[in-house]
Amino acid sequence: MLLRKIAAAVFAVLALGGVQVVTATPATAAPRVLYYDASQAQEFKAVVDQGAQIWNNSVTNVRLLPVTAGRTPNIRIYADNGWPRTYSSSLGNGYWYMGRQAVNQGYHPPRISAHEFGHILGLPDRRTGLCADLMSGSSAPVSCTNANPNATEARTVNSNFASAVAVPPQVFAWR
Ligand SMILES: [Zn+2]
Repeated sequence: MLLRKIAAAVFAVLALGGVQVVTATPATAAPRVLYYDASQAQEFKAVVDQGAQIWNNSVTNVRLLPVTAGRTPNIRIYADNGWPRTYSSSLGNGYWYMGRQAVNQGYHPPRISAHEFGHILGLPDRRTGLCADLMSGSSAPVSCTNANPNATEARTVNSNFASAVAVPPQVFAWR
């Protein structure tokens, strides 16, 4: 009660003095939404959704959502018998392939999916050989089942979308 009275008094003084009292709210910009079209991903549609979900659980500045009718997707996903690969045209835009060559060799499909989405989100390949790194891709052992970005990878994606960093068109191949 006393605190409330003091607060009211302070407010009154500030108001009298012509000082604007602004409530401090943290800056919470809406995340950038990217729509992806998995309709041509053949037997990998579910794993494409899984890769998108992994990123949605890991970052806050961008969301990957299935494209809805009448909308142009930012990202298209295909499947073929080659290596997985991404053709990114700019940050958040491009297309990628779920390649059966890697899947048939035993690489973990959700890791491939999250990795290729990672390229669209502005991450390059980093062939560290470490399973803990999502962007180490095929340099980690085939037995690696980690499909989550590490803290640095997630932070980089958040920062890419916070500043809408410019990313030139690039092609990334799993191997
Ligand atoms: Zn890659």
